[in-house]
Amino acid sequence: MVLLSIKLLTIHKQFEFLPVQLDFWHPDSAPHIVTQMQVDFHVRADQSRSVQTLMEQNEIQYEILLHNLQEEIEKQFDGKRNFTGRHSYTKYNDWDKVWYKAYGFMGKSCSTTKKSNIFVFEQVGKESGRKKAIFMDCGIHAREWISPAFCQWFVKQAASTYGKDKIMTHLLDSLNFYVLPVFNIDGYVWSWTQDRMWRKNRSKNSSTNCIGTDLNRNFAAAWGTTGVISNDPCDETYYGPAPESEDETKAVATFIRNHLSSIKAYLTIHAYSQMLMFPYGYTFHKAPNHDELTEVAKAAVEALSSLYGTKYEYGASATLIYPTSGSSEDWTYDQGIKYSFAFELRDKGRYGFLLPESKIKSTCKETMLAVKSIASYILSYAS
Ligand SMILES: [Zn+2]
Repeated sequence: MVLLSIKLLTIHKQFEFLPVQLDFWHPDSAPHIVTQMQVDFHVRADQSRSVQTLMEQNEIQYEILLHNLQEEIEKQFDGKRNFTGRHSYTKYNDWDKVWYKAYGFMGKSCSTTKKSNIFVFEQVGKESGRKKAIFMDCGIHAREWISPAFCQWFVKQAASTYGKDKIMTHLLDSLNFYVLPVFNIDGYVWSWTQDRMWRKNRSKNSSTNCIGTDLNRNFAAAWGTTGVISNDPCDETYYGPAPESEDETKAVATFIRNHLSSIKAYLTIHAYSQMLMFPYGYTFHKAPNHDELTEVAKAAVEALSSLYGTKYEYGASATLIYPTSGSSEDWTYDQGIKYSFAFELRDKGRYGFLLPESKIKSTCKETMLAVKSIASYILSYAS
């Protein structure tokens, strides 16, 4: 397979001439494309020549980023796939490894609960009764592997630096963290075993063979109404038959509803494009605390870039990228969680979803600074 990355200079109508089913990496699907946006997608090897010809005929500038996707899929493991069966924080771990590691944390500084395929780490610090909490999830989209890698990193760092790192100790003494390392477990497993580029969950849809719902369109936030979403089960952004129709969405929404009095911040981790976004996605209207969210995001991306100079954009998601509805961060915001953020981690398209393992450590370390920045703000100012 070949990945073409295209800097599109004309409007998306140009795409209608393309005869093939393209797998869009960024943005999520063809209707999201706007003028001057960089567009990444991949095509099958046998179609790449004709797609390139069509690009040229339509005077669309493009650049081929990854010539052989299968090769790149192997290369993301830096040449040697981790077959040893051992979990590693600087490698990508399949679901079994994530799960066994989670068990390893039980009885130490974390407690683990398993409920309909979903488990949550609860960092138990001092005075666990009335503390403010932060909920963070990773891996809502299956192919964004750096995301679960970060949640695992976070849990490990939190546990191992407690009592050593001053800021972390203070945060854990004063806040609870609920961390969901893999939101979309079935999709994640599928991305390891069948299709590296899988995005949605794996639920069956009636009246079609097409599988899966986009869990980040399935929340009850202006569900199914606006922005780039799809009512076609064969699309990557299919919003599902009803809000919270999916087990994964339902489980997370239920957990959050049950902890609403304590959860002050919601963080959801995606990849890629290096952005920190906040509500709204379903409207261009500013959120009531838009200015405050802008300040918190600015401080977080400054903290992030202080380590390696990685540049992030930030802002309300409808404006920064495009409108969508049914996203988790809009839903949590509407539940009253005033500090709801969505991260898009590295990179900006060079490797896209196939970020090499050699970049896991630096990506996680810098992201950690952003999360600590937001957490410190919550501790001081959130009521
Ligand atoms: Zn995503």
